[in-house]
Amino acid sequence: MFDLTSIDWESTLPRFGIDRQFLSKKHGPCPTCGGTDRFRFDNKGGKGTFFCSFCGAGNGLTLISKYTGCTIAEAVKKLNGAQLITPHKRQAFAKKEAAANDVNKLRKALQNLWVGSKSIANGDPVARYINYRVPGFKLEWLSSEVRFHPGIEYYEEGVGKKGKWPAMLARAKSSSGEPITLHRTYLTADGFKAPFANVKKQMKGKRMLSGDAIRLNNTQSTKLAVCEGIETGLAIMAASNNKIAVWVFLNAGNLAKADIPNGMFDEVIIYADRDPVDVKTGWRPGEHYAQQLLKKLKSNDQKARIKVPDEEGVDFCDIWSRITRTKDLSKM
Ligand SMILES: [Zn+2]
Repeated sequence: MFDLTSIDWESTLPRFGIDRQFLSKKHGPCPTCGGTDRFRFDNKGGKGTFFCSFCGAGNGLTLISKYTGCTIAEAVKKLNGAQLITPHKRQAFAKKEAAANDVNKLRKALQNLWVGSKSIANGDPVARYINYRVPGFKLEWLSSEVRFHPGIEYYEEGVGKKGKWPAMLARAKSSSGEPITLHRTYLTADGFKAPFANVKKQMKGKRMLSGDAIRLNNTQSTKLAVCEGIETGLAIMAASNNKIAVWVFLNAGNLAKADIPNGMFDEVIIYADRDPVDVKTGWRPGEHYAQQLLKKLKSNDQKARIKVPDEEGVDFCDIWSRITRTKDLSKM
């Protein structure tokens, strides 16, 4: 049996991508399913326990498995492979973390990062990455919300700095145009994913995402495509020859809350991810939240429909890569 109490969950969970803001032991949004106050991390008996009125209750292992989409056995494996954190190390990191939490510092960090970035140009790591991932994509389609940063420090929770890496930066804004946060994808100089477990990281924003979007293109169109991931959004742009507007929401909970002003589009197409069924809830999260968005849009008299891949674990970016070989456009 895995000894749950042997883990310092407060420093370990962030290493699996669960932001410290979720571990405050106060009611707040759920890292897995969103909301505003449905979740509480209480770490009873040091076992990493939590309660969510949507996803249910569980321990640190359950939380890792829910959040990352792996099985409990895989979570145990990952934990056994991870460098465990001593209380001494943890205190040092807690101090740094507290400093970083200062809102003004956050704002400045976001600004600095954005100012240090440049537009994407042929041959740079972001251009190469997009080129590998999304055949047929033309860089000139991109809006100025996606940029290239030549070197951002990669910081591994509980371990430390891992050097500067090139990154794709994408900016999420509210529907009124206020920048909320930045999303980073760490890359290698030749355009592959950087060699770390979590190459995709969201900066701590001015607030939690609440229907805010990265508008990937400037296409004026009567149709809007929405999805969770940047790569999926890029694939939709390629598949439509950049004929429809594409907005990306970064996670399913935020997609469910998508803030799409009434009258801006005639139709919204929700490109859902086909996630595995969550054993606790019995739903596939990607489709579940897509349904929530559909309901929300319909109740606003906005025309909308959902598209979902036939195969589990396959996203529209994979499908588009296949289509470029098979030429069967019906799958997109
Ligand atoms: Zn939840």
